[in-house]
Order: sequence, then structure tokens, then C-alpha cells
Amino acid sequence: MAENKGFVIAIDGPVASGKGALAAQLAKKLKGFYLYTGAMYRSVAFLCIEKGIDLENESDVESVLSDLNIELENDRVILNGQDVTERLNEPDTASGSSVVGVYPNVRQVAVLKQQEIGEKAIKNGKIVVAEGRDIGTVVFPNAAAKIYLTARPEIRAKRRMEQFITQKKDLTKELQNLKTRDKRDTEREVGPLPSDPENLGYFILDNSDLTEDQTMEKVLGELKKRNLII
Ligand code: C5P
Repeated sequence: MAENKGFVIAIDGPVASGKGALAAQLAKKLKGFYLYTGAMYRSVAFLCIEKGIDLENESDVESVLSDLNIELENDRVILNGQDVTERLNEPDTASGSSVVGVYPNVRQVAVLKQQEIGEKAIKNGKIVVAEGRDIGTVVFPNAAAKIYLTARPEIRAKRRMEQFITQKKDLTKELQNLKTRDKRDTEREVGPLPSDPENLGYFILDNSDLTEDQTMEKVLGELKKRNLII
């Protein structure tokens, strides 16, 4: 399916907009490399939680950065040799990641690591499908395509509840959590989630009323329109 080789497709968007599912599937379809950048911030939060470090203490949080050896293998996250994929999905690491993601030194380390992983894959002729909040603005500003995936907050909160079906939660609380994370992500000084994606050249896709397959079709259509794939 891929025509050109070795470029980046950047997918940014708020919590539970479906970026992860879309990026992983798209990478598979294009036989590309899925670069899940949230793994870095979640891993920092996880290491802090493990060590009993207060996430609000910036310099203590920075002390774990030297222990951050991450490998991304398909959709698995290997941290210091251990598969932590499921653990990183837990609510404590999810909300903790947006706290540590505000700290500039954490972002600097994470961004450099992401660029290093992405550039290596590009050199190997891969299409890199990278997803996060600052991919098209900071990590890969020259990405061949930038997609901003979003959905209404109520829809995103419901999706998160469905993800954690075994944990009794209420929608109002979930919506509140999501809004807190969105606020931290858009208001931080370094690498915020763009609030004006249209002006930054993103293709904006609201998938509130779309299935995963329909979302994929729209994205493939856009990539074809730009002659990035055939
Ligand atoms: O995408 P995911 O929900 O896994 O990201 C977890 C958190 O990591 C986000 O809420 C955000 O605060 C942070 N993050 C970020 N920049 C990225 C990816 C994730 O700040 N590129």
C-alpha cells in the first residue's frame, strides 16, 4: 500500500480520542513503525510511583530520568527490560503522566528519545506513525502529514469507562478526570497540545460519531489525497 518510504505521519489529539488504536492499526496497514510517545510520560510516572516519589516534586521526578530505558516493540512497551504495557494503562499512571509531562526536563528527555527512535526507523525505510500531543509541533515538525484526532468530551469519557469495564466508575468523575488532563496538556508551557491545529496545517478529524473503521477510512483517504500512499 505504501508508495513512499521513510516519512512521518503525526497524530495528535486529546485523551481517549482514539489516537492509539488508529496509529497502531495504520502502522500495521502501512507496514510501518508505531511510535507511541505517551509511553515515555507514563513510564516516568510509573517509575516515580514505584519509588514513592511525589509527582508534584519536579526535581525528585527528574531523578528517575536516568533509569528510563524504553523500547517499543509493536504495541508493547519494554521499560528496563520488563514488559510494562498493561501496568502503564492503569489509571494512576495515566493521570500521573500528565503531571510529569509538564516538566521541561522530562519533555526534553522524552522528545530526544522519540526523535532517536523515529529517525532510526526512517533510516530503515519505514513509515513512522507517531502519536501524542506535540508530534506535529515539536517532535517531528516536518512530518509529511499531521492529523488532529478529537471527539466530544462526553464520548471520550465513555470510551475510557468502557476501557476499564471492571473498575466501577462514574461518568461524571471520568469526565472530570479527562477535563483535568486535557487542561494540563493544553495549558503547559512546553509542548502543549495545540489549541489551533487548523492553523498549524493539521487535518482535523472529529470521530465522535464514527467507528474505528470509518475513522481509518477517512485518514487513508486524506493520505491518498496527498499522494503519500496509493
Ligand atoms: O497518549 P497517552 O494518554 O498515553 O498520554 C499520556 C499522557 O502523556 C498525556 O496525558 C500527556 O500528558 C502526556 N503526553 C505528552 N506528550 C506526548 C504524549 C503524551 O505530554 N507526546
